[in-house]
Amino acid sequence: MRTEFTAAQLADPALDEANSILRKCVHCGFCNSTCPTFKLIGDELDGPRGRIYLLKNLLEHDETPSEKVVKHIDRCLSCLSCMTTCPSSVNYMHLVDAGRGYIEKKFKRPLPDRYFRHLLAMTLPHPDRFRLLLFLSALLSPIRKLLPGRFHNALELRSPVTRTRIKSQAKNQDKTGKAVGLIAGCVQQVLGNDINSASIRLLERQGWRVHLLSEPTCCGAIEHHLGKTALADKRFRQNINDWIKHVDDLGLEALIVNASGCGTMLKDYGHLFRHDDTLAADAGRISGMCRDIAEFLSAQRPVAVNGGLKQVRVAYQSPCSMQHGQKIETQPLDLLRHAGFTVKELPEKYMCCGSAGTYNILQPQIATELGKTKAAHIDQANVDVVASGNMSCMMHLRQFTDVPFAHTAELLDWATGGPKPF
Ligand code: SF4
Ligand code: SF4
Repeated sequence: MRTEFTAAQLADPALDEANSILRKCVHCGFCNSTCPTFKLIGDELDGPRGRIYLLKNLLEHDETPSEKVVKHIDRCLSCLSCMTTCPSSVNYMHLVDAGRGYIEKKFKRPLPDRYFRHLLAMTLPHPDRFRLLLFLSALLSPIRKLLPGRFHNALELRSPVTRTRIKSQAKNQDKTGKAVGLIAGCVQQVLGNDINSASIRLLERQGWRVHLLSEPTCCGAIEHHLGKTALADKRFRQNINDWIKHVDDLGLEALIVNASGCGTMLKDYGHLFRHDDTLAADAGRISGMCRDIAEFLSAQRPVAVNGGLKQVRVAYQSPCSMQHGQKIETQPLDLLRHAGFTVKELPEKYMCCGSAGTYNILQPQIATELGKTKAAHIDQANVDVVASGNMSCMMHLRQFTDVPFAHTAELLDWATGGPKPF
């Protein structure tokens, strides 16, 4: 694609990067064929190629974004399916992230939108505030039907697991032997502690000393994808400094993530800070040490085989941030099959379920359509449980099907001696 950035614009590293990305695009449109919003809406501007043109014009001409442009960019799920399909390796993720930051700076959203997005950025990454919000939501529950659509939709989300609360650290404080850090997450600390407990048991059974890292809480993806660039940047810097300290103090050999959305973000720290004189090395170390739990386990000695699980039929729902963001596709399936489960893949596995971080709250209509389609595939699969590697997908999809969900780590934990997770 031809671009016309001026020399002065290209002196800005962010625009220089956008220019390099744009120039790789040959406008073939292959990416449209796997874009969920293009398939659903059928408008060129709701597909990756159209959005790339919108972003090009926005950044090149330093335009104030119009409502129309913002609408089409907001409708993008950041599922990154287009990146898997693109034959020219166009890094759509970095382009749309730059566009979101630009929109947040230059476009004045209507007041309710601004407040709502601000509320999300100010609560979700903070476990204590999020717990308070959930408490208030529970109080509002009887009148939820009277609330505006987005609030109503947010209250409909159901936690996949809520049974236990983990204390601040894993019990294993021994400083000898090989060790990993398990990143506890922000929303997951509140709603998905069973996933963290199962992950700890599983890793310990594999011979690892596990340190649950409940601080820092959030990887920064929520603020980053909302276009809150300054907030996200502050959080990234703090995280890098804090996690490097944990790595060095505790002698950690890897940072394990069991929410694939967070994993995609953490693996991008090295790229985001590559030009930063003070943080480039540490950011690169954090990204290099980050492993999704399935990715990590598949490189270890195999988990024990449980012959009694053959009758348990599992459908695997591949989160976009896992398959497109981190290119982890076969490892979770192989681990589940090896452990003894009968595993099925779902049709149209590349398609997003509509969860996509805060997308299902901000774009409930499209998210519901995609969720229902995925849930229909789940219902037709005739399985006992759905495995996933990302809690927010599980929470979103639970609205549309009665088939239970469990994290891949919970199923592997069950197979190797842990409690049944569903
Ligand atoms: S598939 Fe890649 S090169 Fe083709 S239009 Fe999409 S982004 Fe551009
Ligand atoms: S990230 Fe997903 S929704 Fe956005 S343009 Fe790419 S395929 Fe479409």
